[in-house]
Amino acid sequence: MTESAATEAGSVVNLKAGEIQAMHLSRYDGSALDFTHLTPEAFDPALTVAADRLPLGGVGPLVKATLDRYCVQCVVEAPGYRAMSWRLQVHLACTRHHLRLASDASNAGDAVSRDVVETQAAVLSRLAPSAENQGFFQHLHAQLVSEIGPWRSSLDRRVQETPEAVLEAFGLAVARVMSPGYPDYQGFAHWPSLSAARHLRPPDSLAYDRSLHVFPHLLPMHHFTHGLADLLHRPQIRQARAMAAVGAAMCATGHPLGVAVRLLPERRRGTTSAMLLNHLVQLEREGRAEQFWRSCAEAATQLIRESVDYRHREKVCGDENAYVIARSAEPSAYPRTIRTWLVDQWACTYTSSNVRPSVRDGSIEYFDRNFGPGMRAALERLLAERAA
Ligand SMILES: [Zn+2]
Repeated sequence: MTESAATEAGSVVNLKAGEIQAMHLSRYDGSALDFTHLTPEAFDPALTVAADRLPLGGVGPLVKATLDRYCVQCVVEAPGYRAMSWRLQVHLACTRHHLRLASDASNAGDAVSRDVVETQAAVLSRLAPSAENQGFFQHLHAQLVSEIGPWRSSLDRRVQETPEAVLEAFGLAVARVMSPGYPDYQGFAHWPSLSAARHLRPPDSLAYDRSLHVFPHLLPMHHFTHGLADLLHRPQIRQARAMAAVGAAMCATGHPLGVAVRLLPERRRGTTSAMLLNHLVQLEREGRAEQFWRSCAEAATQLIRESVDYRHREKVCGDENAYVIARSAEPSAYPRTIRTWLVDQWACTYTSSNVRPSVRDGSIEYFDRNFGPGMRAALERLLAERAA
């Protein structure tokens, strides 16, 4: 509700406006609920809208607009007490009394297992609004849909009919959300790749939040051959290096695949994202997903340390001057390979049509060993002059 409405309501019951606001579901706005499309005025008590006609349907998975479930024992101990989270469909059990929440006296008070209590506690610990917690609930929603269908409209009924089955499905959905980086376990092999990409996150994050320009479109060879080349040997090397670059960006930022892939030019995103998902599922089945993430995190750490602006290099790369300078630095280098080298080893982009998949037979690495250092030094000087 608006600040002035909260102040007014507070003056009646002798509470501060902030205390009144904290009693409202908007406290979960940005975690389990989303009030983005509702203005505070919709909840002004002066409007005298009947409680069951409040526009709450769209904000998220509530038990009902006006009702909630409750813990029988909590109410016995403190008559009149209502936990605000009891309004949420994702609150199924009391973590203090280990009882299933009841919607009326007829189904009151089944005991639940320790596993259910732990699952429930994990969900309730995510209620503070933050981008991370919002992602958690969005993913939980998607997992519940995949596990039990359109649950928002039917979970309340189902939990009364078959509580064990619902609690088990709920437990599995939460466990899957809490296993980032393992798409096979998370069930993504059977999801449409767009929604899987939206929810596939790396297991750990370096919490890097600065420019993505330190991540090239293709992972540079010296990072790629260090472990990732073995893991990603099935696809073409160029695709594999793009997948590795996206994996490194995910590990650095903690972003899901669907966001990290924006690193790449638009036309490359769909394919790369679908391929990365497929290959990661394969790696996981072979017990090598952990190795993949570890190698990506190592690559990310080094890229951040090197702090090269690849977008800047990409621009310089298209400049004829760069070619001339690289060529005069190493006059004996085969001139046409210089163009490939510029894009592939130095700017690490997709932008040139000159790039041939010559990395396959090792000729570019050979070329790089012989001429790379001299050309790199000359180009770094060019960049320094430009920056000055
Ligand atoms: Zn209780």
